Amino acid sequence: MKEFLTEDQLAVREGIRALVEREIAPRAAGYDRRAEFPWDSWKALCDHGYVGMSLPEEYGGSGLDMVSLVICVEEISRGCAATGVIFEVHNTLCAATIHRFGSPAQRSRYLPDLATGRKIGAFAITEPGAGSDVGAITTSARREGDQWVLNGRKCFITSAGVADIYVLFAVTDPSKGTRGISAFVVEKGLPGLSFGKPEDKLGIRASVTADVVLEDCRLPADAMLGQPGDGIKIALSALDDGRIGIAAQAVGIAQAAYEAARSHALQRVQFGRPIAEFQAIQWMLADMATDIEAARLLTWRAARAADLGMRHTKEAAMAKLFASRMAMKHTVAAVQILGGYGYTREYPVERHLRDAKITEIYEGTSEIMRLVVARQILKEVAS
Ligand SMILES: Cc1cc2nc3c(=O)[nH]c(=O)nc-3n(C[C@H](O)[C@H](O)[C@H](O)COP(=O)(O)OP(=O)(O)OC[C@H]3O[C@@H](n4cnc5c(N)ncnc54)[C@H](O)[C@@H]3O)c2cc1C
Repeated sequence: MKEFLTEDQLAVREGIRALVEREIAPRAAGYDRRAEFPWDSWKALCDHGYVGMSLPEEYGGSGLDMVSLVICVEEISRGCAATGVIFEVHNTLCAATIHRFGSPAQRSRYLPDLATGRKIGAFAITEPGAGSDVGAITTSARREGDQWVLNGRKCFITSAGVADIYVLFAVTDPSKGTRGISAFVVEKGLPGLSFGKPEDKLGIRASVTADVVLEDCRLPADAMLGQPGDGIKIALSALDDGRIGIAAQAVGIAQAAYEAARSHALQRVQFGRPIAEFQAIQWMLADMATDIEAARLLTWRAARAADLGMRHTKEAAMAKLFASRMAMKHTVAAVQILGGYGYTREYPVERHLRDAKITEIYEGTSEIMRLVVARQILKEVAS
């Protein structure tokens, strides 16, 4: 599939692949087992300049395009899916959102540290009563003089407590429904901001997922991102990019599972020959290879639309829907190809299977992706 990438994008892929194989993939199983934040992997990405890759050079980034970013998310997730989501949320949901909607002062204040990775970014919209229905959030932001006072609880927040900078959503005008939701930049260390205990998860165990608690947390007036009432617009725009990142994460996880299954099938001998010679195994491998390429192309197409400045709500949702379902299906198949070995922690495919499931849930479940796609295609037919 080289023919779809420019020389620069191919160079990005070669560089990140080598780094992941050398410094990230070998540590992934250990971090997963210990459910420990992958600091060494994060540091490797910072040291090699990947963390700020999509931010403009004036803020310390490399000004690379969305296709290059999703190539990196795929390659990182192929080695360690937990590091993949930390990187993806930091870039698309936090740094890029501040870049797109922030004031010049907010950009200069936050982006240089996000570009180097000195500070980690997070995105907090989900609440106990508002998951798929993000418009139902109740965290409130009340104006008091020249401050905003925030109260509420966010849940399931990637990198909560580890991250330094949170793009966070709260209701500033309850009388206006979803148009009364606004976005803020919240910094770790503020009085009134605390974090819950990390969730004990099925997969991506090395990424921290926890509550963000706001108790009379006071922010300066200029902590608002965009205008009052812009919150849902900002969140949905960020998620249009984020979902392409999650599609890339799913492709990376599936690619890793496919490679492990292929290599095992070529080596494992039963009935006097490698199991790769049995048609049942060949068909599974052929389906895997085909579906991975299809998912990758959908992901690149959505990223390319983003790079061209086109609206890509439908493309992002289609890519995430297809790639996450594909990753789930084929990580299960990879375990099947490894037989009993696949069911043990000695081999990586059980981790890939556990990691794949989340791609069908976060940044919008598969059911919500279908709703988004349906809404868009029905509009197309009507117009
Ligand atoms: C590991 C992890 C990391 C996460 N990271 C973040 C983060 O960094 N920031 C953040 O803000 N959030 C984060 N989330 C939250 C995540 O985005 C939500 O869990 C997700 O959007 C689903 O919301 P929910 O869990 O409340 O499920 P619900 O919305 O309660 O959904 C439950 C089920 O009902 C279905 N459903 C709901 N509504 C409909 C409908 N209208 N039609 C058909 N089916 C429907 C869903 O598809 C799902 O199958 C994370 C979650 C996890 C598990």
